[in-house]
Amino acid sequence: MDELMPLTPVDESWQTALCVVAHPDDLEFGAAAAVARWTAQGKRVVYCMVTSGEAGIDGMHPDQCRTVREAEQIESGRIVGVDEVIFLGEPDGIVEATVALRSRIARVVREVRPDIVITNNFRETWGGRNLNQADHIAVGAASVDAVRDAGNRWIFSDQLVDGLEPWGGVREVWAAGSPQATYAVDTTDTFDAGVASLEAHRAYIDGLGWEDWDAEEFLAGGARQAGSRLGVRYATAFEVFPMGWGE
Ligand SMILES: [Zn+2]
Repeated sequence: MDELMPLTPVDESWQTALCVVAHPDDLEFGAAAAVARWTAQGKRVVYCMVTSGEAGIDGMHPDQCRTVREAEQIESGRIVGVDEVIFLGEPDGIVEATVALRSRIARVVREVRPDIVITNNFRETWGGRNLNQADHIAVGAASVDAVRDAGNRWIFSDQLVDGLEPWGGVREVWAAGSPQATYAVDTTDTFDAGVASLEAHRAYIDGLGWEDWDAEEFLAGGARQAGSRLGVRYATAFEVFPMGWGE
């Protein structure tokens, strides 16, 4: 990542965004402050969790963890103005970018009819030497494909009953936190809401056992770096994938 390269403001002339990520907490590690900005502008943002993060807390059995983490995600969304949270219930930790997963995401795209789809970084790394997690890579790749599938009436056409129509209106897919991000949005005014939404994942954060870890300090690090490249105090950076032809 070129830490000095200026970032371009994302296009905010949209009304509905669908966020598709692997786990509860994925959006809260940076994107939630941007979501708070957009919901405050009157935009509709819908969350879709592919798994419920039930394998994410070592000391808690998945049966209990699933309930805890779903509740934390719903509260986390509420804090940034999101009141629609969908859980697909795929198994945490072993998600694969299969045709079956594309089908499930495509159905959600057809139901929500978003202008923008937001997912997590699905590049191999986060920019340093730490490898990205397998579920993130699978969900990001499946989401891009599912957006294309959703617009094609001859793909997953069994879904097109009871008024459900193809939806080809997704203009772009945005990957939050990508090391190849070249776009960003100013989150200076909503940074605090983003922090609060991460802190809502209390059981998860406690389960990580990171001593003296501070959500605000952690988020400020990334937000300040993106902000300096956008020319503001805090920002969230995105890699933008156009979904039309010829770009
Ligand atoms: Zn994750």
